Order: sequence, then structure tokens, then C-alpha cells
Amino acid sequence: MIPAPFEYFAPASLREALGLLSDYKDDVKLLAGGQSLVALMKLRLAKPKYVIDLNRIPGLNYIRAEKDSIRIGALATHAEIEQSETIRRNCPLLSEAAATIGDAQVRNQGTLGGSLAHADPAGDMPAAILALDAEMKAAGPAGERWIKAEDFFVGFLTSSLEPEEILTEIKVPVFPGSRSAYLKAAQRASGFAVVGVAVRLRLGANSACEDIAIGVTGVADKAYRARDAENILKGNKPEDGLLERAAAKALEGVDPLEDINGSKEYRAHLARVYIVRAIRAALAS
Ligand SMILES: Cc1cc2nc3c(=O)[nH]c(=O)nc-3n(C[C@H](O)[C@H](O)[C@H](O)COP(=O)(O)OP(=O)(O)OC[C@H]3O[C@@H](n4cnc5c(N)ncnc54)[C@H](O)[C@@H]3O)c2cc1C
Repeated sequence: MIPAPFEYFAPASLREALGLLSDYKDDVKLLAGGQSLVALMKLRLAKPKYVIDLNRIPGLNYIRAEKDSIRIGALATHAEIEQSETIRRNCPLLSEAAATIGDAQVRNQGTLGGSLAHADPAGDMPAAILALDAEMKAAGPAGERWIKAEDFFVGFLTSSLEPEEILTEIKVPVFPGSRSAYLKAAQRASGFAVVGVAVRLRLGANSACEDIAIGVTGVADKAYRARDAENILKGNKPEDGLLERAAAKALEGVDPLEDINGSKEYRAHLARVYIVRAIRAALAS
């Protein structure tokens, strides 16, 4: 399919891009890797009159280690994140999740910023970003602001970015001594998560869970943090019975998605199984 006609802009600075976004905010889309947007445009599910390409803006693609965090430019691609030594060493969960996305072509084009802004309920990066307690920097007409991962995903394909904002940076804290894992049951054709679970945890001296964070994707209309499950595990040894109790808790109050890939019951069951497996994988990492 061919997209509906649109006017294309390739601004050379963030300021110029923000100006264009303000001018055309009612009917505009930002273009990063195009791996979600172009497909939607070709299917004519999105018909923006104006498209602002972010790729000519310098300074939006970097991976930098700072004292307690890793700073990632919004245009860093999944492949760059998968292969970055800095990320592998300091927050391997993010590399692990990036490596599971689609195929090499998608990972070479698709960006972290695009994945988060798109807020696909089956996206892998939202789960990892939630488990890593990351923060997103948004630039807008009033300046910059930081948004915590848990406040960022608000619903189906909806983030808390305002229409005139551009996501510019992702700040991922480093958790020394923590272990992690990302596991997903992937849809065979696309690789998207039918269920995906990201776990970061730290054990104390007596092998009890000192800290744990669980991000779940593919299950609800947005990726979410399984706080109630974490609370069951915190301070306790992660033994089999407790893991299963925590996994069940992670689904309480959640209305699972139902689609061609699975019924509500199937997804909820798969999620419980994958939560237990992901915690075990993190413990073994
Ligand atoms: C065949 C195929 C398989 C895939 N498999 C997977 C998979 O297994 N797992 C997975 O998680 N994803 C998968 N994807 C999606 C992929 O991860 C995309 O990279 C991602 O969804 C969007 O990133 P992008 O950079 O391509 O964004 P784009 O498609 O360019 O943009 C997506 C949306 O985000 C907005 N946007 C982009 N950048 C910004 C920004 N900096 N600030 C504000 N808004 C912005 C755009 O306006 C648009 O609305 C797949 C895609 C394809 C085509």
C-alpha cells in the first residue's frame, strides 16, 4: 500500500523541529526509525498531513555512561543498544530486550525513543524500561521535563508525551550488584511479545530479595509494573511457592488483551508462567 500524501520536513535542529511541531500539531507525526509509523501510514491507519523526520537532528543518538546512570539518545537504535558494551556492562537487561526485537532490519532502523513514544502494548522496551526505573526527557515549547517510566505509558499506543513534545533522552539508573532477565513468548511472524517479562533483582546476604522490579508487556493495554507481586517477594527468599503466589498477584486487577494470538485466559496463564520463569532466569544470571 502507498501512504496518503503528506508534506515532509527534515529539520536540522531540535529547535526547528519543535517549531514545526507547534505549527502543525493538529495533523503531524514525528518520524524516527519508521518501523511502526511507516507501516501504519502504508495501511492508511495513520494519515498525517505533515511528517517531521528527526534523523537529521544532530545530538539525538548517543550512549553515554555517567556516574550512576546511562544516558541514551532517543534515536539510538535497537541494534546499537543490543551491541553497546556500555549497556551490556551496566544494564544488560536493556541489551537483552533489544536483541529480541523483530529481526536485524527492524533492529537496525527502530529506535528506543520511537519504541517508547509509540507505547505499543506488546513492545519489548517498555517492559525493560519499567523494570529499570528509567526516566524519559521530553523537550517542548516550555522547555524540558523528566517523566518516570511508570508515568510514561498511559494506555493503548498512548504515552504521556504532549502533542508538542519530543522525547530526546532516556536515563537508565545503574543498579550495582543486581541481576536481571528478559523473557518473552514471541508472536512467530513479527517477534512482538504475546507476553514479555523483564525482571531486575538484588539478593541480600540471607538470599532474600532485597530489591525486585518486574515489568510486564503484551498482557494489558499498556506495559505495566507488577508492584503487588514485587511486594510479596521483597524481604523473602524467592522460593517456588512464593514465586507462583507473586505471579498470580501480578495478574490481579488486570484485564488481559484478547486477540488472534490468544484468549484472556491463555494470556493470563502465559504471563504467570513467564513471570516465574523470568525471576528464575534473573536469579541464575
Ligand atoms: C516486522 C516488524 C517486527 C517488529 N517486531 C518488534 C518486536 O518484536 N518487539 C518490539 O518491541 N517492536 C517490534 N517492532 C517495532 C519496532 O520496535 C519499532 O522500532 C518501534 O515500534 C518504533 O520505533 P521507530 O524508531 O521505528 O519509530 P517510528 O515508527 O518512526 O515512530 C513510532 C511513533 O513514535 C513517534 N516518535 C518516534 N520518535 C519519537 C520521539 N523521539 N519523540 C516523540 N515521538 C516519537 C512517532 O511519531 C510515531 O508515532 C517491529 C516492527 C516491525 C516492522
